[in-house]
Amino acid sequence: MNEKGNLSINSENFLPIIKKWLYTDKDIFVRELVSNACDAVTKLEKLVRMGEAEIPENEKFAIHVVLDQDQHTLQIIDNGIGMTADEIKKYINQIAFSGATDFLAKFQEKTEQDNEIIGHFGLGFYSAFMVADKVEIDTLSYQKNAQAAKWICEGGIDYEMDNGTRETRGTTITLYLGEDGKVFLEESTLYTALRKYCSFMPVPIFVDILKEPTEEEKEAEKKESNTLHVSPEEAANLTKEDALEKLEQKHSEEPEEPKPLNDTTPLWQKQPKDCTDEDYKTFYHQVFFDVNDPLFWIHLNMDYPFRLKGILFFPKLVEHMDVMEGEIKLYSNQVYIADNIKEVVPDFLLLLKGVLDCPDMPLNVSRSALQNDGYVEKMNSYITKKVADKLTQLFKNDRPVYEGFWDDIGVFIKYGCMREEKFYDKVKDALLFKTTDGVYETLSEYLEKNKEKHENKLFFVSDENLQAQYIRLFKEQGLEAAIMSTTIDKPFVSFLEYKNPGVKVQRIDADITDTLQKKEDEDTSEAKKQSEVFTNSQMETLFRDVLNNNSLKVSVETLKAEKVSAMILLSEESRRMMEMMEAYGNGADLKAMFANVKPEETLVLNRSNGLVKYLLSMNEKDGKKEDMKLLCHQIYDLALMSHRPLTSEEMTSFIDRSNTLLEKLASFEASK
Ligand code: ADP
Repeated sequence: MNEKGNLSINSENFLPIIKKWLYTDKDIFVRELVSNACDAVTKLEKLVRMGEAEIPENEKFAIHVVLDQDQHTLQIIDNGIGMTADEIKKYINQIAFSGATDFLAKFQEKTEQDNEIIGHFGLGFYSAFMVADKVEIDTLSYQKNAQAAKWICEGGIDYEMDNGTRETRGTTITLYLGEDGKVFLEESTLYTALRKYCSFMPVPIFVDILKEPTEEEKEAEKKESNTLHVSPEEAANLTKEDALEKLEQKHSEEPEEPKPLNDTTPLWQKQPKDCTDEDYKTFYHQVFFDVNDPLFWIHLNMDYPFRLKGILFFPKLVEHMDVMEGEIKLYSNQVYIADNIKEVVPDFLLLLKGVLDCPDMPLNVSRSALQNDGYVEKMNSYITKKVADKLTQLFKNDRPVYEGFWDDIGVFIKYGCMREEKFYDKVKDALLFKTTDGVYETLSEYLEKNKEKHENKLFFVSDENLQAQYIRLFKEQGLEAAIMSTTIDKPFVSFLEYKNPGVKVQRIDADITDTLQKKEDEDTSEAKKQSEVFTNSQMETLFRDVLNNNSLKVSVETLKAEKVSAMILLSEESRRMMEMMEAYGNGADLKAMFANVKPEETLVLNRSNGLVKYLLSMNEKDGKKEDMKLLCHQIYDLALMSHRPLTSEEMTSFIDRSNTLLEKLASFEASK
């Protein structure tokens, strides 16, 4: 038999297109050819099970990938179903070819990300020409009395068919690697591609690298074969005869059975009840190269209405980083497709690590088409539900453990809540807030606990160092605030308010006078006020004048903490406005619009404090105007220091003023 043919009239530009299109993902051919080999084995297994094919007893199914570095060839050899000459014509010349051309026709013009097909899935057999100048198929079908057949094609255009040489059932694909494929002659490049795509394929894969050993390698091999590995004690007692005998034994020993490159039954394919914690941890370390253990995991296992298996891991947060870096690997029937595909996985899940095997997902359509496909939506809501269930279950049944995880998973949950309404609805009661008392509380627990002091208000700290003074004040009054200091907390605060309309969420330095105010009986407070020379508005005028700041508001209040002379409060609304400007205000228009917006600042003077009491009762007519100014400035700076770091100018003037005040005190003491 000898037959020649031409694959198609349009095939002249076939190869250049294939190469151009897949230039960045040349290694895809590894997946396509090895998964074809797996399919060939799986098909045969099925036939054997149905009693329609027979195989020799004890025959093991395997795929061998053989790289010959001297001949520049790469072979993928399977002992699967094989093909007859007619089948080659049908499957390779027609179906595979039209499959590949269809694929190219659909996608060659579309270069935008949006239209990309996931992982170029579906290109099939002809992806071999991305790396090979010539491809040869040598195959023997499982069918009785089948003849081996051979197919050779150069450049993906003209093919030739002849009798094959295979004596055992199966298919050998030989790629004659060309200029574009020569990187795959390197062992490491080949291994990288095999590990990436084939690590969990269902048939054992063995790799053989053939090359003429160098003189040094030959020497090392010889040395190794004549070396006995014994302990120093054993060596001391070994006679020459014993040693020779041992060496002979070593040479006659069977070499160890080679190990396949892949794990043919990955953990996600097993039933959760058959997997131990250790199994999950080991799998996680191996697949994600993370030395830390995962916090916990969710094993997805669904058969109806579509098949979906997988494991999602909650990783430990990397220290000092409040961004999570996830990795979701997508598989289809144990064949790796791609990482982090946002069109498939709910985007908040991309913060986790995990594997998803979705054999029913249509992968040979564009990404945008996939997104509009009902399948993805159903899968997303299933996964979202599973994740939410796991979290609420942990929260309910194992609260201390859940609290222990919170610092690591909080960011993920908050992000998920903001991204996915359904997720928020499910986990909202399991949302925790770590408070300044070091405990974890839900919003309703916090509100309940603090309702006597401030009703329906959640106070939060955005920076524990900067707001340390306010925290101290809070603590002195037996109050607590939620620590919300990660990047995600800013938008999350607004989100919380939006979702809980009756609750006011305020930063700890916002208007807290209500909360900290002393409830005194009218008489004493009136009596106190009478000893004051200054009214509220006079104080405001005085401070505005001294500080040269006309927008400053001053309010005299009776606070519980006597040690605190004054505090600066920022209105929650104007502070958020400022923050929004900082976040979005890069545009010149916006900047101009908000140029005059300053956060509304209020200086609260505490009349329970001795110094303020003194200031309020000072009489400027007694020639104390200068002293008053000094005091005002100093009180303001003290409040400012508890609020934010001073600028270098502010610091210089504060130090100078402190010196002046101390000198005054010293000379006053001396004059006594
Ligand atoms: P697909 O695998 O998506 O069907 P391919 O282009 O990869 O498309 O292959 C086309 C067809 O060629 C396969 O469906 C199969 O029938 C046949 N084929 C490819 N490789 C092998 C193989 N190693 N053994 C047996 N048949 C094969």
